[in-house]
Amino acid sequence: MTLHDLIRQRLRWKLFLSYAIVVLVGSIVLLITARLHAPTALTHHAMRMESMMSVMGMRDVLAEDLRDSFMASVNEVLLVAVAVALGAAFLMSLFISQRIVEPVRQMRRASQRLAEGDYRVRIPVWGDDELGDLAAAFNQMAAELEQTEQRRLDLIGNVTHELRTPLSSIQAMMEGLIDGVLPADPATYVNIQSELARLQGLVQDLQELSRVEAGEIMLDRHPVQIGVLVAAAAARLQPQFDDKGLRLAVEIEDGLPRVLADKNRIMQVLINLLGNALQYTPAGGSVRVTAAVEKGRVVITVRDTGVGIAAEHLPHLFERFYRVDKSRARPGGGSGIGLTIARHLVEAHGGALWAGSPGPGQGSTFAFVLPIAA
Ligand code: ADP
Repeated sequence: MTLHDLIRQRLRWKLFLSYAIVVLVGSIVLLITARLHAPTALTHHAMRMESMMSVMGMRDVLAEDLRDSFMASVNEVLLVAVAVALGAAFLMSLFISQRIVEPVRQMRRASQRLAEGDYRVRIPVWGDDELGDLAAAFNQMAAELEQTEQRRLDLIGNVTHELRTPLSSIQAMMEGLIDGVLPADPATYVNIQSELARLQGLVQDLQELSRVEAGEIMLDRHPVQIGVLVAAAAARLQPQFDDKGLRLAVEIEDGLPRVLADKNRIMQVLINLLGNALQYTPAGGSVRVTAAVEKGRVVITVRDTGVGIAAEHLPHLFERFYRVDKSRARPGGGSGIGLTIARHLVEAHGGALWAGSPGPGQGSTFAFVLPIAA
């Protein structure tokens, strides 16, 4: 490694070089000043000493000699001073570079480990300076990567789990058919068909989820009469409410302004919320859908008298694959993705979707707001 490379590649030598330059420039200035000013000062002092020495009878010491030896000692002292200053510059650069280089080295090692997939790596934050900020930013990035990785692993685990149930029941039924244990009649085929439909629904949900999470949903927004949309969604699910023995009421405020929305997407949200209310409300209960203006926005509320939701579950309902009752056998139900998609869709409209419940057995309320069309 040449000296040039050494200085170019090592912070420590860069610092030393800059300090050494400061020391040398300072010394040269000092030397020139001493050379210019010292003789005048010396002559002045020598004259005073001469008169003193004549009183003391030491006239043979010449002013000339005095000046020479004085200049020699000035040079000597300056030389020593330069050497000491250079030494100090070296130690200083060592100390400063240690303070800068060590954190940078740690950061380099940590980013290598991060690149190798160790997302738990963190580095100590030294003080409040720029290096400290950099370390804090690095740690934040590592934490976010760790979370992303965790979500990815969870997703794979959840998808695998969701696929396993319908696949194993299809396999069991097929084996039953092959072995002659199950009768080859329409009932068996309908069961197989419904498991296949469940798989298909899951695949569709996953596709939709990945698109909404990637922000790839294109909204075709127009001023929409939300009352018409709510009534249409209710009408579509009315037969299922009737079958289950549930009452479904729709209340639309008079003179409701139009909202700026993608009709199909908001229909999807309404169907999801009404479908959940239908699913989680036992026979004999009721579901009420309302639309009203509140604080300059339109609020749509779906209130049911169903199973309700415990407070500890409320914050998680909109996480993908989250289900309050993990073990519930739900042949017609989703996989805990519906609300995740619904919230993304409402948020893409610039709105918000939330859930509330007084507790288990006391019904639930899901509500969302949409902006009014200008
Ligand atoms: P799924 O498609 O499985 O219903 P969602 O994302 O739509 O999934 O809902 C997530 C979970 O929220 C459900 O599994 C259920 O536990 C709970 N939930 C949703 N709606 C209601 C409701 N109206 N009453 C009680 N619990 C509900």
